[in-house]
Amino acid sequence: MNIHEYQGKEILRKYGVTVPAGKVAFTVEEAVEAAKELGSDVSVVKAQIHAGGRGKAGGVKVAKNLEEVRTYAEEILGKTLVTPQTGPEGKEVKRLLIEEGCDIKKEYYVGLVVDRATDRIVLMASEEGGTEIEEVAEQTPEKIFYEVVDPAIGLTGFQARRVAFNINIPKELVGKAAKFMLSLYKAFEEKDCSIAEINPLVVTGDGNVIALDAKLNFDANALFKHKDILEYRDLDEEDPKEIEASKYDLSYISLEGNIGCMVNGAGLAMATMDIIKHYGGDPANFLDVGGGATAEKVTEAFKIILSDENVKGIFVNIFGGIMKCDIIATGVVEAAKQVSLEVPLVVRLEGTNVDLGKKILNESGLNIIAAESMADGAQKIVELVG
Ligand code: ADP
Ligand code: MG
Repeated sequence: MNIHEYQGKEILRKYGVTVPAGKVAFTVEEAVEAAKELGSDVSVVKAQIHAGGRGKAGGVKVAKNLEEVRTYAEEILGKTLVTPQTGPEGKEVKRLLIEEGCDIKKEYYVGLVVDRATDRIVLMASEEGGTEIEEVAEQTPEKIFYEVVDPAIGLTGFQARRVAFNINIPKELVGKAAKFMLSLYKAFEEKDCSIAEINPLVVTGDGNVIALDAKLNFDANALFKHKDILEYRDLDEEDPKEIEASKYDLSYISLEGNIGCMVNGAGLAMATMDIIKHYGGDPANFLDVGGGATAEKVTEAFKIILSDENVKGIFVNIFGGIMKCDIIATGVVEAAKQVSLEVPLVVRLEGTNVDLGKKILNESGLNIIAAESMADGAQKIVELVG
């Protein structure tokens, strides 16, 4: 799960990571009020969306007085920001962070990630801050330094200082920078983050080490432990189809393609996406209806697939093991009744109660194209959507 920058900074502040004073604002008036209360000479008006790259897209503005705060707040609130991380459709700004302006001497990058190659949390840092780390990794990989964290010990002071030296933090600030990284690690570990990216971390004119940006991601499977983090969820930032799916406990992920997939089991769902790709098609979603799904759940799943305007055809691929084919068939028929089905539907059923399932589909009066196998079904649906 993703949260906003201001929320990330709230969490980090509790762990002793230095962040600028700031306030969230939902309206222009609130923005001006927030700047007044902050009382700093310079304030920064920052768009709050679940995506980075806001600065270059005009979503971060430095205001020298309250009038400018008003002007920028008016300009940014309600604007659709398009950044490399939002996709071409962009994201509408509904919240602002009004933050005290910071006297930046130099920008650095510090990030913590869960690294699949080492199965460890890895600290990454670079003196090339402010720019995207992917770019640095491509052009000057030697400027990124890594420390692999032993989970039994945690990030050590020695590792944090070594990184601070490597990225050329001024000598007199190495202690502060190391403390910063240790606090960041503690937050990461305790809150079950999957990413904590501070870009930029800055050294200021008056000798402080501060997080100017904060991107925190959380492991969705650990969220049940963190009610406080769940409260930060902003549904405006999420795909409505995925929100709807989560209400019914369906594993659903939206994708860019036009073939809706209804499958049971994550492995079969992945294989189904692969085989659609293999025959030249593009899946519109990943969907695992799970083992114990009811007809009602299948109905909802089918409706969610149909609510996607990009969907030009549906491929139902079910292996009835724990899940029974007749339940799936009943759900599909029920959903098709509730929502008019105007796109081709290819169904491949196999396993428990397959004959009953096929009978239900055949007698439904729906225009269903039966498939003999997974490959046959994939080929048929790819052909049908053209
Ligand atoms: P994004 O990564 O989405 O572009 P950032 O929060 O990193 O947004 O801001 C972009 C740039 O704006 C920073 O690299 C920094 O130079 C400047 N900036 C951000 N916050 C402040 C602040 N409080 N004071 C001064 N400059 C800031
Ligand atoms: Mg940034």
